[in-house]
Amino acid sequence: MAERRKFLLDESEMPTSWYNVLPDLPEPLPPVLHPATGKPVTPDDLAPIFPMALIEQEMSQERWIEIPEEVQEVYKLWRPTPLFRAKRLEEALDTPARIYYKYEGVSPPGSHKPNTAVAQAYYNKKEGVKRLTTETGAGQWGSALAFGCNLFGLECKVYMVKVSYHQKPYRRVLMETWGAKVVPSPSEDTEAGRKVLQEDPDCPGSLGIAISEAVEDAATHDDTNYSLGSVLNHVLLHQTIVGLEAKKQMEMAGDYPDIIVGCIGGGSNFAGLFLPFIKDKLEGKKEDLRVICVEPEACPTLTKGPYAYDYGDEAGLTPLLKMYTLGHNFVPPPIHAGGLRYHGMAPIICHLYNLGKVEAVARHQTQVFEAAIKFARAEGFVPAPEPAHAVRVTIEEALKCKESGEPKVILLALSGHGHFDLAAYDAYLAGKLEDYELPKEEIEEALKGLPKVPA
Ligand SMILES: *Cc1c(COP(=O)(O)O)cnc(C)c1O
Repeated sequence: MAERRKFLLDESEMPTSWYNVLPDLPEPLPPVLHPATGKPVTPDDLAPIFPMALIEQEMSQERWIEIPEEVQEVYKLWRPTPLFRAKRLEEALDTPARIYYKYEGVSPPGSHKPNTAVAQAYYNKKEGVKRLTTETGAGQWGSALAFGCNLFGLECKVYMVKVSYHQKPYRRVLMETWGAKVVPSPSEDTEAGRKVLQEDPDCPGSLGIAISEAVEDAATHDDTNYSLGSVLNHVLLHQTIVGLEAKKQMEMAGDYPDIIVGCIGGGSNFAGLFLPFIKDKLEGKKEDLRVICVEPEACPTLTKGPYAYDYGDEAGLTPLLKMYTLGHNFVPPPIHAGGLRYHGMAPIICHLYNLGKVEAVARHQTQVFEAAIKFARAEGFVPAPEPAHAVRVTIEEALKCKESGEPKVILLALSGHGHFDLAAYDAYLAGKLEDYELPKEEIEEALKGLPKVPA
């Protein structure tokens, strides 16, 4: 009998709760600190820009948190997402490994990001908020939030880094198609933007400036909140629907992963996949489970950064998070995986890495695109440059199995498609893609800007 290629759940089998790992951590997560006082933040500190439901989820000790019915209804536009067995890739590699991938590219914005954008829009709407602001670089997060806001009748204002606004118009068009207002940042709409423009009218913008604008907008309008697409505990929580589905699908396949591989920018897509599995590792049911986080050599947060308190944003406006960091002033080289160019990392992933429960490796973008092309030619799907990092390491692990003859089970997080990233593929195919070797001194320089934290 031919082996099955895909494992699909019925809508009725879609999980109805998210999994919160906080109560299952072997040691509690270090607290988030107020930047002025150095004391742990309170819900009141966060209330001006986040709805109370999300603030509660950020700190919750409940293991299971029910997904509101309205959110489940929206999820069903594209969920449950498929799990595939990469049979043709296995054959191309001639490996005894069994490779599976969980594919989040089937959502309308084309990635995992709407799993949290939809939930965040819902909770804000429920608490009477009329409008959400956010920043976006290449536009993946902005388009997910525009999609979520549109479904719940919220206005959405996206501050998009000016150089991306002009160089990458298609995701802007997508945002506008879903009704969002998109402005190039720095803009004339905020104090922060006007100040930058006064000094440098041709400023190309940066995520740091865009965050300052989005936060200022939210803080100065009563009906407006701010929304973040990765890093925070509640974002990772919403993404666990990915791993909860995958667990059921792996069961259908009659397999359990020995290795789970994913890319990490702020950590949300990968944590969404691996957290429900790492529960089994932490409980001793699958102690030898390996979880491999893959980051770019150009932004090597876990592999080269220290574990320290730092701001979540480049502007230094947010509370202090304990995380592996390259320093909030670090400006990563312009690699094509825009979603992986973040100086810090989700505190939950950092904590698990610090405890030795997950591994991390870094790869160069040319090796990554080489792997992505191999994957696309075998499996058809064209990976976004971000998950292509995970594709690279999946192939490496499968080839190790070929050496050793071990039929390991590998599960890959394929967080999105690359249809908006074809310029990057074009550069690779034309032999124009460059790798960036990051000088140690550059990292050390950026780390000098780490904030001082009272002991
Ligand atoms: C934004 C993005 C990422 C990186 O963000 P995480 O929070 O680390 O998941 C990865 N893959 C895709 C497709 C993205 O759009």
